[in-house]
Amino acid sequence: MRCLICDKEFSKNDPDAALPFCSPRCKMIDLKRWLGEEYSVESVNVDKLEEQIAGVDSEDDEPRQDLTT
Ligand SMILES: [Zn+2]
Repeated sequence: MRCLICDKEFSKNDPDAALPFCSPRCKMIDLKRWLGEEYSVESVNVDKLEEQIAGVDSEDDEPRQDLTT
């Protein structure tokens, strides 16, 4: 099958696949899109993207503002 993010052919039996994406990286790219950071995959600097992906986990620690009032 073909990855929705990077358009690469991959096997759904590939242990590195994160269906429907070819890899966890592409899955994270899709997640980032849903988080509202829209950009063209073709123009993404992969190293920068990995830095951004590494920051996703820490965002879970944000205080919930609706509970501070
Ligand atoms: Zn991919």
